[in-house]
Amino acid sequence: MDFRLPADVLEYRDFVREFARKEIYPSAERRDREQIWDPALWKKMGEVGLLGLPIPEEYGGQGGSCLLTSVATEAFAQGSSDGGLTLAWGAHSIIGAMPIVLCGTEEQKRKYLPGIASGEKVAGLGLTEPGSGSDAAGSMQTRAVRSGDSYILNGSKMFITNGPIGDVFVVMAVTDKDRGAMGISVFIVEKTFPGFKTGRKLEKMGMRTSLTSELIFEDMVVPQENRISRENSGFARVGRATLEWERTVLVASSLGSMQSMLDQAVRYAQERMQFQRPIIDFQAVQQKIALARCKLDAARLLIYRSALKKDAGEAAPLECSLAKLYTTEAVNAVAYDLGQIFGGYGYIHEYPVERAYRDARLGTIGAGTSEVMRSIIAANLQNIETGP
Ligand SMILES: Cc1cc2nc3c(=O)[nH]c(=O)nc-3n(C[C@H](O)[C@H](O)[C@H](O)COP(=O)(O)OP(=O)(O)OC[C@H]3O[C@@H](n4cnc5c(N)ncnc54)[C@H](O)[C@@H]3O)c2cc1C
Repeated sequence: MDFRLPADVLEYRDFVREFARKEIYPSAERRDREQIWDPALWKKMGEVGLLGLPIPEEYGGQGGSCLLTSVATEAFAQGSSDGGLTLAWGAHSIIGAMPIVLCGTEEQKRKYLPGIASGEKVAGLGLTEPGSGSDAAGSMQTRAVRSGDSYILNGSKMFITNGPIGDVFVVMAVTDKDRGAMGISVFIVEKTFPGFKTGRKLEKMGMRTSLTSELIFEDMVVPQENRISRENSGFARVGRATLEWERTVLVASSLGSMQSMLDQAVRYAQERMQFQRPIIDFQAVQQKIALARCKLDAARLLIYRSALKKDAGEAAPLECSLAKLYTTEAVNAVAYDLGQIFGGYGYIHEYPVERAYRDARLGTIGAGTSEVMRSIIAANLQNIETGP
């Protein structure tokens, strides 16, 4: 049992944190206010290899492990104080790309991964629908009907990160309506396919530096060779494999956010004078700081454990759900408590802790709500079968 990260992972973490501090942080407040996703920053992220981090080298990526990618996500979120761009990156390189990496054919990998790895093509995942969220498989309405060498897709996908700017989406659709989760297939969809439309950009509370919209499919023609994995095996196989990465790597963004808030809160509490002394002298302030550090360390260990299990080639449904539930609840509690240390300033846009507070809110909702995580954890402890 060794709690230290390997030297190469630490070195990469420092590089990513510095890159994010220098390139991303300076404009984060403005992009959040104006709800902008900046293609120039995306290009820079691509140039340093971030956009294809977990994609194997033979397809243009960096071949990063789940642990390395999680640590890099944490470092990016810490250095940038930009949860939204961290989310856009994760939607692209994890939930957009990993279904192809983990379950795609050789042809699909060669065709799609190099463009995603360089960032030339922006990727995303379309699972959620207007009427189907937590019960993603049971309530799914998007249908894919075979027609010769193609499938015809009709339906829509809701809250899709990178929706307004994406080029390639991994989309789930029902291919056998009588088989529930075992009747769903996964397709690689290009925005240029006839019948593909993007809905309006959704105005969000947080994560505003990522763009979100509905995707609409009207008799959209998808070639059969764009189906990932066997027909009807999409939810059980592709969904599960990808969601475990999502619930580990994307959630690591909250670690970076907690670390960044903690560093700022300690500094602020040392400098802020009230009653002729720095507010860090007050036990009520010290307790908030100490508890935040406890939560951060516990969350970090849960995420690293889940990542190491993925890197060992094992399924980690329990570990990633524990990590996801604890970390996203923790970042909300920490954002509240550490925001309190800033008093009125913590309520003002210019202070990154205000943005972190709004960004944190998505954590307990996206990628499976906290309520669903608790059900999955309880089901795992009883060996009950549940959806991903
Ligand atoms: C900014 C943003 C970005 C997103 N990005 C993507 C994306 O890129 N791709 C994608 O596919 N999706 C995306 N999502 C969707 C996200 O994953 C869903 O919002 C989430 O899964 C919850 O689904 P829902 O909103 O339909 O809520 P619902 O499932 O309707 O849940 C509503 C409430 O009921 C509770 N509930 C539901 N079922 C149960 C149950 N069995 N037990 C207890 N409580 C229950 C929930 O916990 C919640 O509190 C995004 C969402 C947002 C807001």
